Amino acid sequence: MVSPRYTVQTPVEPAHELVRKYNIPGPRYTSYPTAPQFSADVDRPALMAEIVADNRDASRPLSLYFHLPFCESLCWYCGCNTVITQRRASAGEYVDLLCQEIALTQPLLNTARPVTQLHFGGGTPTFLPPEEIDRLGRAINAVFTFAPDAEISVEIDPRRLTKAHVQAYRRLGCNRASLGVQDTNPEVQMAIHRWQPLAQTAQAIKWLRDAGYQSVSVDLIYGLPLQTEASFAKTVEEVIALNPDRLAVFSYAHVPWIKPAQKIFDQRNQLPSTEAKLAMLTAATRALTAAGYAHIGMDHFARPNDELAIAHDNGTLYRNFQGYTTRAGASLYGFGMSSISQTDGSFRQNFKDLPEYEQALKQGILPIERGFLLSPEDKRRRALVMDIMCRSRVDYPTLSSRLDVEVAATYASEIDSLADLEADGLLARDATGFDITPLGELFRRIIAMRFDAYLDRGPRKYSKTV
Ligand code: SF4
Repeated sequence: MVSPRYTVQTPVEPAHELVRKYNIPGPRYTSYPTAPQFSADVDRPALMAEIVADNRDASRPLSLYFHLPFCESLCWYCGCNTVITQRRASAGEYVDLLCQEIALTQPLLNTARPVTQLHFGGGTPTFLPPEEIDRLGRAINAVFTFAPDAEISVEIDPRRLTKAHVQAYRRLGCNRASLGVQDTNPEVQMAIHRWQPLAQTAQAIKWLRDAGYQSVSVDLIYGLPLQTEASFAKTVEEVIALNPDRLAVFSYAHVPWIKPAQKIFDQRNQLPSTEAKLAMLTAATRALTAAGYAHIGMDHFARPNDELAIAHDNGTLYRNFQGYTTRAGASLYGFGMSSISQTDGSFRQNFKDLPEYEQALKQGILPIERGFLLSPEDKRRRALVMDIMCRSRVDYPTLSSRLDVEVAATYASEIDSLADLEADGLLARDATGFDITPLGELFRRIIAMRFDAYLDRGPRKYSKTV
């Protein structure tokens, strides 16, 4: 039964004091534990044993991720793991490395497990010329078996796209695409070093639709230099007119200690205030819901008949490294530099630097830089954190039966610690659980942080939550 109660929420504008109070650094919880907890000192034999054990469970499908890191120029806000180059030969050399990694991984894999999800991210996946996309597709299809309804998606930079790229990824099976847009205002685009006329974005969407892609998503970012509530409202209006199936409206993550190019925004004093960011998000949410989009999780919007909206309503939404997804319960295999892989009991991440990634493969070893083995307690907290990030209600009896512990008693102190969030109207507790209110939607990360056992270990190097 689909409940419209949470699907199209009335946007609620929190008071500025509330935003100031809760706008603190925090994880985005695309995983729990989060990536900063992964360690090069992980017990590698135990990690490999976990991967082998995971492969015995044929009931778990596979999700694949390919990281294609090259970009021709750097967008100054970028937080991704990229390699900036105009050297075209890099593409073919990198596909060679990916083929080597697939070959090294294959003996570990039970390839009878169907692939239900495949994502090409970056970087700029269309840095690869069409013939290299085809070659990569052949290498993937030679090893993996795809479910008939597999979701195969690619990140598109409309500035670096040709019709031939669209067709090459379609030949590879892509049925979804997400387009980086960020902001349509020319002054903002100049300030972030990403010049992208709206007509170019419209052209990319037309090519994708003509080629048969079922779903086209647009990514926007609020909190960029020179943005104002009015300018961002215009961006949202212009993007709604392009009629995407989904939108992601991300908060700009300002982390200049990790991404030095972002320092220029501080030097030029161009970043909007927290209050202005909030006004942008509120206006965007209002415009998108008025245009008929359902608000999914913190930063995603989708047409109400989109499978993401349906999953949100029926409680099957999940969160992974690409954001919100409908494909829960899969083991993730990441390929390429910096990519992350996941089984039920482990994470592992490849080398973040291309030379190290390449060197490991040339030595015939898997390019794993660091990893993490989850304890039973980590898995229980992961279930709690994922429910907070993906559901409208955290229900103790349901979780208790899944986790084999009495949740209300085991996490009594964490639940007690929610009192101030409840007093501020972010959630409403009762004897068997708590509901996240429309006001709390913006602060899901803050609520989840109360159940994160690792927050106090080591310096917090996260972006702010609003
Ligand atoms: S195109 Fe995307 S990945 Fe590349 S620099 Fe710009 S934002 Fe970063």
